[in-house]
Amino acid sequence: MTGGPDYVHFRELLVTERTRLQHARDAVHHDGSLLEETGDLAIGSGDHIADSASETYMRELDEGLEENADHLLAEIGAALARIDDGTYGLCVNCGSPIGAERLEAVPYATLCIDDKRALESGA
Ligand SMILES: [Zn+2]
Repeated sequence: MTGGPDYVHFRELLVTERTRLQHARDAVHHDGSLLEETGDLAIGSGDHIADSASETYMRELDEGLEENADHLLAEIGAALARIDDGTYGLCVNCGSPIGAERLEAVPYATLCIDDKRALESGA
């Protein structure tokens, strides 16, 4: 594969992810409906290990999802803006192409893998 990233493809990925996050965030806002559903399932199964595991998971999801979703939605919005202005797929730090494989995994990535690793090791 040569040339820049496939803007049409990545726009679709970003829009799909944005929709998914918006739905997930909305679900959290609906007075713990996710928790209630999971509670019903856990009671029905009678499996205490799965019960507590799913409770922990849902609690973490509940606490972390809204913040994460807002953060990711901002990243996705910025990535869509970069598609519009033609800078999508370029590292914001050094200007190198981020690479289609990395964008496929993290379509809202702003840093090439080298700068990402440098950031993580330096942090
Ligand atoms: Zn870079």
